[in-house]
Amino acid sequence: MESKKDILGLLPEQLAAELKEMGAPAFRAKQIFRQMHVNRVFEFEKMTDLSRQFQAELNDRFYINLPKIRQKLASCVDDTVKYLYMLSDGSMIETVRMVYKHGITACISTQVGCKMGCKFCASAPLGFVRNLTPAEMIGQIYGADQDFPADQRISGIVLMGIGEPLDNYENVMQFLRLISHQDGRGLSLRHVTLSTCGLVPLMHRLADEALPLTLSVSLHAADDQTRSALMPVNRRYRLDELMHACSAYFRKTGRRVTFEYAVIAGENDSAEAAKKLGRLLRPVFPGQRPHVNLIPVNPVAGTGFHAGHAAAFRNKLEQEGINATVRRTLGEDIQAACGQLRRDSIESTESVVNGSEGVSGL
Ligand code: SF4
Repeated sequence: MESKKDILGLLPEQLAAELKEMGAPAFRAKQIFRQMHVNRVFEFEKMTDLSRQFQAELNDRFYINLPKIRQKLASCVDDTVKYLYMLSDGSMIETVRMVYKHGITACISTQVGCKMGCKFCASAPLGFVRNLTPAEMIGQIYGADQDFPADQRISGIVLMGIGEPLDNYENVMQFLRLISHQDGRGLSLRHVTLSTCGLVPLMHRLADEALPLTLSVSLHAADDQTRSALMPVNRRYRLDELMHACSAYFRKTGRRVTFEYAVIAGENDSAEAAKKLGRLLRPVFPGQRPHVNLIPVNPVAGTGFHAGHAAAFRNKLEQEGINATVRRTLGEDIQAACGQLRRDSIESTESVVNGSEGVSGL
């Protein structure tokens, strides 16, 4: 496998260059790309428009490796499904498939673990392992799609699972090129939201790409002291720099910037916090009401944080001229915090290795 290339991560033009080296005509690249990204065929032997000999040559040079579903939690109250995937090196990641009135959205992971160390996050204590490849990101979507009939395909994506997408910049960009390619899935980037904890230089770089992505900024506090205590990234990039980057993104792309705010009791849910948030956000989008998504913080073992009263905080924000919605909690019955399935799986494995009685149930 090591010397073989991951064909699912190649654009048609990149694949054409590879095929040229094999002495195959360029049109085959589009054919193979369509088989994978339109027809959902992930074995060369099943690409029936290719000769047996060519299938064997492809097998010698490339591999296709969709992540394996290791655990699946389906909600009893709505159609949300949460997947724990195992990658080819044994790493675990999470993906959530959510059904809305306007379509089906997948929340995908972009890294195995995360370096950012946010204090309320289930992934942070486990540290960073590695970046996901473009094929591993796309595999999360195709893996979930394969679990459902062909007319129930995912039509929207949020990059808000495990990892910081901008910390895996090149691979995320390649993933976006793949998923939106007109010869393949052709998913509109207007239906993609990228979430960041605030890597300011990369936010400016993303703005310069002028892609029609919605940018979602994990804010969680409106003053530097509180935010730095919750999110170490704020010690590197302060709120004034972050707001400047948000304003530049909006100006250059014309796309919305929204803010995520986990409401944590006693930490960031006071009337004073709402006032500060108003003073922070109003100047960023002159003439517009900023939009904040309030998330009742998920209880994660060991964090010591408890959910604040999101609806009460929303009312305080409305008085400050900010539109706020309390995020609809899809799949409430399976709503372990993001990263929690992976964390439970790893901790269970460790407890088995250490000889305790815990088993993973996987
Ligand atoms: S909240 Fe996001 S950016 Fe922060 S540690 Fe968790 S995965 Fe990383």
